[in-house]
Amino acid sequence: MTALLDLTGKKGLIVGIANEHSIAYGCARVFHTAGAALAVTYLNEKAEPFVRPLAQSLGARIILPCDVQDENQLAAVFREVTEHWGSLDFLLHSIAFAPKIDLQGRVVDCSSDGFLKAMDISCHSFLRMAKYAEPLMKNGGSLLTLTYIGSQEAIPNYGIMGPVKAALESCVRYMAVELGDKDIRVNALSPAAMKTRAAGGIAHFDDLLKHSQDIAPMHHSIDLDDVGNMAAFLVSDLSKNITGGIHRING
Ligand code: NAD
Repeated sequence: MTALLDLTGKKGLIVGIANEHSIAYGCARVFHTAGAALAVTYLNEKAEPFVRPLAQSLGARIILPCDVQDENQLAAVFREVTEHWGSLDFLLHSIAFAPKIDLQGRVVDCSSDGFLKAMDISCHSFLRMAKYAEPLMKNGGSLLTLTYIGSQEAIPNYGIMGPVKAALESCVRYMAVELGDKDIRVNALSPAAMKTRAAGGIAHFDDLLKHSQDIAPMHHSIDLDDVGNMAAFLVSDLSKNITGGIHRING
C-alpha cells in the first residue's frame, strides 16, 4: 500500500481493533503506512491473541488492555502514553456495543440498562478519552470517532444504535467547540455498512448492506482503505481547519 500523505512524527492511540476486518485496523494500517507511531488497545484477554499480532504488524510499542467501562484500564492506557511519548497527536475511537436483546428489539422496548450500557460504551467513552487526551495534545490534535447514517434516518434493524450514534454526533459538535481554542479537532467518520464483527450483531445485516449499495450514488461497497484514507486525512495537518464534521464515506 502506498501512503497518500505523510504522518511521520505523529503519535496516535487506536481503540477498537478486534480483528483484521475492524474499521480501526483499516485506519491504523493507513496511519502506519503513512509513518505514524501507534499505541493499540484490545478489549480483554479473549481478544488479545487476535489483536496483539495485528498491533505488532503495525509497529505498536504500546499494546494494552482497555475495556472502556473499566476506568482503571483507561487511565493506565493514558498513563503509559504519557510516560512513553509525553504527548499525543491523534486518537481513534472505533467502538460500539449494545446488548443483543436491546439491539435486535424495537427501540421502544429498549431496557434502561441496555440503553445506558450502549450509551456509556459507544458514546460517553469518547468524552472520557477526550478528557484524558486533552492535556497530552499541547500542540493541538485530532480526535476521531465512528458513526453511521442510522443516527439521522431510521434505518431498519439499526435499532437503538441509531439514537446512540445521534448522541455521539452531537458530542462531536460540542467537543469541537469546546476544544477548538486548543487546536484540538473533533470529527466523525460515517462509513456505509461494512461486514465486521460488530455488524454481525445487527439482524438482517445483509439487507442493510444491500440497502447501502442501492441508495449510494456509485452503487458499490466501500472497503477499509476508503475509511482509512479519510481517517489519515483527518488526523493529518492537511485538515488543520476541519472540525466538528460528520464525514460520509459511502460511495
Ligand atoms: P468491530 O467489531 O471490528 O469493532 C468494534 C470494537 O468495539 C471491537 O474492537 C470491540 O472490542 C470494541 N468494544 C466493544 N465494547 C468495548 C468496551 N467495553 N471497551 C472497549 N472496546 C469495546 O466492528 P466495526 O464495524 O469495525 O466497528 C467500529 C466502529 O465503526 C463502531 O463504532 C461501529 O458502530 C462503527 N461503524 C460500523 C459500520 C459497519 O457497517 N461495520 C458502519 C458505520 C460505523
